[in-house]
Amino acid sequence: MKELTLAPLPYADDALEPVVSAKTVSFHYGKHHAGYVKTLNGLVAGTKYEGLSLEDVISASREAGDAAVFNNAAQIWNHDFYWASLSPEGKGGEPSKELLSAIESAFGSLDACKDALADAAVKRFGSGWAWLVAKGGKIVVESTSNAETPAGASGVKPLLVIDVWEHAYYLDWQNLRAAYVKAVVESRLNWAAASARYK
Ligand code: MN
Repeated sequence: MKELTLAPLPYADDALEPVVSAKTVSFHYGKHHAGYVKTLNGLVAGTKYEGLSLEDVISASREAGDAAVFNNAAQIWNHDFYWASLSPEGKGGEPSKELLSAIESAFGSLDACKDALADAAVKRFGSGWAWLVAKGGKIVVESTSNAETPAGASGVKPLLVIDVWEHAYYLDWQNLRAAYVKAVVESRLNWAAASARYK
């Protein structure tokens, strides 16, 4: 039987300091993210989901209304995407010419786009995610609740995500979600990765 595995972190535990500390990464990646993988493998063993790709488990469990399978699978996908959306300070690059142009069409400027993403992250009530996505070629900001994800939605290409579950920031920022979000948006987003996805 083929188990799903925890994707490696694309950088060292302390690479996002001080915005996301090594301690936060050790719990967030090592406990929460790893926990979703372990739980999902337990849930799918011996079921119709066993052996499917993560994307196929997400779409099949969404279709079937299997909430526990969907929540754990979507959380794995969202966390893989979150770590890939972040980068060490100075290493995130800039939006490509094509992405920048699409961002300027949608928001007026890159700064306005960052403000809209931060606003969605701050305003998401409770646990969830703030996304920058390309929808039919247009760049939009949206947020999702709990494990909900734009992954696999037709015509939607996720570009970046910010995790705003409290486990993502509470050890470093306590209740100051807005400060965590501002620091991420200003200095930790991987625009090079977003640009490669936008192509
Ligand atoms: Mn998380």
